[in-house]
Amino acid sequence: LARLRGRLAKSQNLLGRGLLALLSSDKLDADTWEEIEDSLLTADVGVEATTQIVERLRERTKVLGTRSAGELRSLLAEELVTALDPTLDRSLHTAPHDDRPAVMLVVGVNGSGKTTTCGKIARVLVADGRSVLLGAADTFRAAAVDQLATWGERVGAETVRAPEGRDPASVAYDSVQRGIETKVDTVLIDTAGRLQNKVGLMDELGKVKRVVERHGPVDEALLVLDATTGQNGLAQAEVFTQVVNVSGVVLTKLDGTAKGGIVISVQRKLGIPVKLVGLGEGPDDMAPFDPRQFVDALLG
Ligand code: GDP
Repeated sequence: LARLRGRLAKSQNLLGRGLLALLSSDKLDADTWEEIEDSLLTADVGVEATTQIVERLRERTKVLGTRSAGELRSLLAEELVTALDPTLDRSLHTAPHDDRPAVMLVVGVNGSGKTTTCGKIARVLVADGRSVLLGAADTFRAAAVDQLATWGERVGAETVRAPEGRDPASVAYDSVQRGIETKVDTVLIDTAGRLQNKVGLMDELGKVKRVVERHGPVDEALLVLDATTGQNGLAQAEVFTQVVNVSGVVLTKLDGTAKGGIVISVQRKLGIPVKLVGLGEGPDDMAPFDPRQFVDALLG
């Protein structure tokens, strides 16, 4: 938690200190609510969620006769946790089947952190005693393929790759096939995300999915989202949910943003649980997403 807090230092400043400072007068008036609203909006919680949270907070403080900043903080924390729906299943489905590996697709816009996320997940799985195979289905970018292969070497996972420009779906298919042959536990497939050609991208992603599913259903389809792109990034990302049955979101680069509240927007808009958060570029800079811990870190 301390680490998470440190990484979220900027968000913490915004929500935590600002909030407690404004409450030091122990007086709740119209200004207080406006300031809370501003803090939440600035942190990218989104208009709808902010309105709802502040509304509920006002009602509850009225009913409870809340006066102190500490009490208000805990009520706000409760509302934020509720907005993140703590009952959602956030586990990753990576356990192999009897006759084939678990298959995980990683999708998202280029630059969002897909390849890095594949590497980090592979590392966690290998550390857990699982065998992993990486599939480099982003065949349009030689650098992405090399980057994934480097992660593979680092964590001790084979990378299936093909010459640049080859059909991504065939690389995805070969990856699962190879995973079955070598009896690995989990196959992680990194995909392309060139949004400038949306129709082509979506056709291609649909094909990757169909081809992989010849071996059986995809166990986990993770959408990687860059937290620093805010509400715009979120709108772009919705396209992916139309093609792939996204089972979880990975929110990256939370270390570099004062807008940690985007987590709430993401979950609300997409209706998909945030399962992992990226907190840096290094191999260990990823954490499972836990609403309570996260809100604690956010409020400081
Ligand atoms: P891809 O194009 O979606 O595969 O994105 P990459 O994995 O290549 O990542 C793009 C850039 O973002 C790289 O420089 C990564 O090191 C960086 N990156 C990825 N995840 C994080 C994160 O959680 N925090 C920070 N600060 N940088 C990240």
